[in-house]
Amino acid sequence: MILDGKKVADELQKKLKEKISLLQGRKPSLTFFLIGSNPASYTYVQMKKKACSYVGITSHVHTLNSDISESALLKEISKENSNPNTDALLVQMPLPSHINAQKIMEHIDPKKDVDAFHPLNVGRMLMGKKGGFLPCTPLGILVLLQKYKIETKGKHAVIIGRSNIVGKPMAALLMQKETGCNATVTIAHNYTTNLKEISKSADILISAVGKPHFITEDMVKKGSVIIDVGINRISEKGLKKLVGDVDFEKVQPIVSAITPVPGGVGPMTVSMLLENTYQSYLQHKKSDFES
Ligand code: NAD
Repeated sequence: MILDGKKVADELQKKLKEKISLLQGRKPSLTFFLIGSNPASYTYVQMKKKACSYVGITSHVHTLNSDISESALLKEISKENSNPNTDALLVQMPLPSHINAQKIMEHIDPKKDVDAFHPLNVGRMLMGKKGGFLPCTPLGILVLLQKYKIETKGKHAVIIGRSNIVGKPMAALLMQKETGCNATVTIAHNYTTNLKEISKSADILISAVGKPHFITEDMVKKGSVIIDVGINRISEKGLKKLVGDVDFEKVQPIVSAITPVPGGVGPMTVSMLLENTYQSYLQHKKSDFES
């Protein structure tokens, strides 16, 4: 079975569009900070902006030169933190090397931090507390698994990759005492010595490595579920194409379910960003009403 993230994301966005169209007055709003001229970052922001426009979220992009100082960027973020018409803020990563990304993430108002990178949101997620934002890619994967009714309870989930964006939060979410979670989680990374043995024991294998054809058929268990987070741009027979971490052609026949690249995890990530922005809007509206 193909886990069609594009289809699920389209359905979610259609529903969200309907909900937003019924809102009176100001619509939800998301502000992007795009620093420098990284072509991949530009493409990601354009893609997210297009999705915002489809569902009816107002979006603004602050494009800043790569030589902007850290203090100037912090000031720009402060302005948006206090802008009552901005519900959500996203600083597109990576940042130029002279800017401390951690400092930037910690400066974003946690109530507008729809990427969920602020320590307060990360802490809430780890503790299983409600009220914070959950990071878009891991949340999108959980939603996709739920949509396809894939059981996670008591299953062995192996995550390859330990980044703050994907691997670590994925592990934190899958182990929560919640419906759609309750998995037994193993994290593997570049110092893992017996990777094949571990990956072969996975009922659900999540690869977030960023290396094409990294997951081969001898690394997966028959009938398992494969989630391919990787996005790799390669050239094949002179053609540029996008592939994941998994050798899809060889792995797909032996597993029970698999996400394609493109059209798997990527669209779900974008959808979760829109959902988080909508939730942020509702929270801001509620606090406007209460104050
Ligand atoms: P990262 O570079 O921060 O992390 C890569 C991880 O892979 C590291 O933790 C490293 O330990 C692990 N790794 C590297 N070589 C390994 C090896 N030989 N064996 C085991 N582990 C190894 O990357 P990231 O930000 O987590 O992203 C990973 C991939 O996912 C990238 O291709 C990125 O583009 C993609 N991504 C996709 C989405 C999406 O929405 N689809 C979102 C975020 C990231």
